[in-house]
Amino acid sequence: EKELLQQLKGKEDVTLDGKQLKLYANIGNPGDVANVLRNDAKGIGLFRSEFLYLESEDFPTEEEQFKAYKAVAENMAGKKVIIRTLDIGADKTVDYFNLDKEENPAMGYRAIRICLKQPEIFKTQLRALYRASNYGQIAIMFPMIISVEEVRKIKKIVEEVKAELTELSVPFKDVELGVMIETPAAVIVSDELAKEVDFFSIGTNDLTQYTLAIDRQNAKLGDFYNAHHPAILKMIETVVKNAHAAGIWAGICGELGADLSLTETFLKMGVDELSVSPAMVLRVRKIIRETDTSK
Ligand code: PEP
Ligand code: MG
Repeated sequence: EKELLQQLKGKEDVTLDGKQLKLYANIGNPGDVANVLRNDAKGIGLFRSEFLYLESEDFPTEEEQFKAYKAVAENMAGKKVIIRTLDIGADKTVDYFNLDKEENPAMGYRAIRICLKQPEIFKTQLRALYRASNYGQIAIMFPMIISVEEVRKIKKIVEEVKAELTELSVPFKDVELGVMIETPAAVIVSDELAKEVDFFSIGTNDLTQYTLAIDRQNAKLGDFYNAHHPAILKMIETVVKNAHAAGIWAGICGELGADLSLTETFLKMGVDELSVSPAMVLRVRKIIRETDTSK
């Protein structure tokens, strides 16, 4: 089987009836890029930027961040690299953020909420990302979105960062902006969100947690954590429909995206992108190439 999979390297991610998919990989630090390339993913669909913050004793500087993003963009040699902004909080905490202990950290002060409340942290990351955009094809996505208002606030901050860089004659490229769809609220307003951004990436790990009201960290609830629940599948279908109605693409970057028993279902729903762990890329490619979405 291993050899058969190896033969899929260099092959396209296209179904029997000619539907082209974006098959990307998820990474957690720049060192993972070698594994992405070895498994021939056509891009990076989720680069979790938390490693920068988790590895440091203090806030990572703009320069440190710039170097990390630039290295990944360069090593991917023009292939798309979707970098997710800071998703700290809940299970991922660091001392220097001085976050209060919370009753319900998963529903607490985290991710984009920190970025909007402490824009200096957010702007440092955005500046580093825009500077790195000049070295490859970077896209940015924002986690834990619940409303259109948040996205408008984010876009305003992004415009400020771009204006500052322009003022300083720092070069940067056009960067696609997307949001993660990982809260039930984001699913329900996805028709409106789709008018604000360039793409959607569905985070099924958190979407399952928040939809089923099941803590993803609680091993005791493992039997109840069912990402195949019809509520989740219907949500994915809704999100894809709303994305397409607004002319943008929608992918899945949560664990469910690599669930081979659902690949055909996702393709038939019209999912445009699947971002999976590097080790799963060729397995998913095999199924894509064997699927006929017209049947
Ligand atoms: C998700 O929630 O599905 C996701 C991809 O993000 P993370 O697992 O990092 O929360
Ligand atoms: Mg998430």
